[in-house]
Amino acid sequence: MLTSPVTRAEISRSRLVANFKYLQSLLSASDPPRRAPELAASTDLLAVVKANAYGHGLSPCAPWLVQAGANWLGITSVEEGVALRRLCPKVRILVMRGLMHGEADALIDAQLIPTVWEPQQLLWLSDAAHKHNLALGSVPVHLEIDSGMSRQGVDLADLEKLLETLQHTPELRLSGVYTHFASADMLDAEQNQLQRAAFRKAVDQIAAAGFHPQWIHAGNSSTLLAQQHDLQNAIPAKHGAKTLIRPGIALYGYAPEFSGSDIAAAEQARAQLQPVLAWKTAIASTRSAPPGTAVGYNATFVAPTAMRLALLPVGYADGLNRKLSSTNSSAGGHVLIHGSAAPIVGRVSMDLTVVDVTHIPNAAPGDEVVILGEQHGQRITADDHARWARSIPYEILCAIAPRVPRVICK
Ligand SMILES: *Cc1c(COP(=O)(O)O)cnc(C)c1O
Repeated sequence: MLTSPVTRAEISRSRLVANFKYLQSLLSASDPPRRAPELAASTDLLAVVKANAYGHGLSPCAPWLVQAGANWLGITSVEEGVALRRLCPKVRILVMRGLMHGEADALIDAQLIPTVWEPQQLLWLSDAAHKHNLALGSVPVHLEIDSGMSRQGVDLADLEKLLETLQHTPELRLSGVYTHFASADMLDAEQNQLQRAAFRKAVDQIAAAGFHPQWIHAGNSSTLLAQQHDLQNAIPAKHGAKTLIRPGIALYGYAPEFSGSDIAAAEQARAQLQPVLAWKTAIASTRSAPPGTAVGYNATFVAPTAMRLALLPVGYADGLNRKLSSTNSSAGGHVLIHGSAAPIVGRVSMDLTVVDVTHIPNAAPGDEVVILGEQHGQRITADDHARWARSIPYEILCAIAPRVPRVICK
């Protein structure tokens, strides 16, 4: 029996909890004069655990977050929500992808909170509520406003019609209104002001129609790390509503690349976060390669001098991005072996990758290889992989394949 899988993703509970607590501390850390005390008390985090907790594993991450004090979790689909409900029986769960045909019954059974913005979605829910003999106002819904991202949410032009449908579906209760920013990581972007203004207008219109949602929310990791959450908290404050900030990537120890004239605070906050996931494997075998030896598919790399190569039992089927491949004229990514960088040589293949260990003479089969994480004070982050692969840390983490076992650690 395998005692420890060779290729594995180690998931650190203490780091996830520390990141969560740090983000919680940011909620109330801003300038006292800018923040009314009653507002601080009514701001909470919605911990985003969509996409299998950004690749980290819904179980164990979601229960760890709830034990650390999370009152709200956000996921994408009803399927994920049903699985999450089994793991976390009491927490509030927002399904952030809009409700789709055929999902209403499962959603109500699992007591998930749907995102809605089309009259049809309200009708599906009200039918399902009838079928379940639910009392009036017993199905909470969160209405998403498209404040300028053109993805999900009701357009301001269609809001009045939607509110009319809501008046005629009394089984439903408008408990939340929210929006999502396209450019939260671009701190000076005019897009943010335009979206905030559109959101404010929509919320005013909703209040004028006689609805008083308990929760009005916007903002993600970037918003919180950049300490911009007070800007949109003015909107819920005006309407006496509570608010949520919805961090995802920061829980797992990463942040987007910030841009703007003053990113110092955001960068300082980023530096407090700790990557939760470490991706490791072991050397399968080593070999000597005389000058002129071709390595890997299409011989994109030919040893210019005598080299020592190590074979790793990991490839793009595990989520190791093929853009980390190298040729003789262009470098790729690297891994850590004995605390030294071992560059990837030639093409990353489906299940195998070759690295250069010429300068690590004691590298031997069975030795630990760090693909993401720390070793002897050196580290490789998902930001490094993102740079090599011209991607973003989100995609790097989500791409780690299900076949790589997630192993719980301290
Ligand atoms: C994914 C998502 C978030 C979290 O975004 P991060 O950049 O990971 O913090 C917040 N809100 C919504 C609606 C999302 O889809």
